[in-house]
Amino acid sequence: MIIVGLTGGIGSGKTTVAKQFEALGVPVYIADVEAKNLMHKSKVIKRKLIQLFGDKAYINDVLNKYYIADIIFNNNTYLQKMNAIVHPRVARHFEKWSLKQDAPYVIKEVAVLFENGGHIACDYIITVTAPKELRIKRLLMRDNTTKDKIKSIMKNQWTDTEKIKYSQYVIDNVDLEMTKNQVVGIHEDILKRIGKI
Ligand code: ATP
Repeated sequence: MIIVGLTGGIGSGKTTVAKQFEALGVPVYIADVEAKNLMHKSKVIKRKLIQLFGDKAYINDVLNKYYIADIIFNNNTYLQKMNAIVHPRVARHFEKWSLKQDAPYVIKEVAVLFENGGHIACDYIITVTAPKELRIKRLLMRDNTTKDKIKSIMKNQWTDTEKIKYSQYVIDNVDLEMTKNQVVGIHEDILKRIGKI
């Protein structure tokens, strides 16, 4: 299966772009969403997260995400330990999922694709970009968050310049209609490159 990695900084519009590919019939795997699903469904992950964070990690079987976010936000070691529990299982889940898809290629959306080395397993990479101030504005509208929190997450992510260096495609996501045109162009180009049109 041909795997196209879709990434971009926080609030750049990865999921918005992923949905546009989905509308063209491309199967889309959103790693963050699947990771959250697995944190609820997988008994092994649950047990290991309780070992790591204590009983407060879940309240009535629901992940206590604010409690965990607070811990990992202030302590990188905890973040790394949580990633070591969750990431390999998401990777296996993706692999099984991708083998079941009947399509010329699949999209795997991962916020920290480069930061976690996931780009190595991709055939092509698309980076979504948008000006920082616009991303902050969108996130403040979407989430119950602060400018400081957004900026500190941005600091831990690769810069757009670094990501673009290793990407075959870049989507400039400012205007939705223009983004859609770029998505259609990239979709056709990928199909050509892999000999499907
Ligand atoms: P995260 O990094 O949090 O996973 P993301 O990169 O997946 O975010 P989206 O959730 O797609 O980004 O977009 C962030 C917000 O900006 C959403 O509320 C979305 O509706 C809005 N948005 C994205 N692209 C555009 C656009 N081109 N025009 C207007 N609003 C947009």
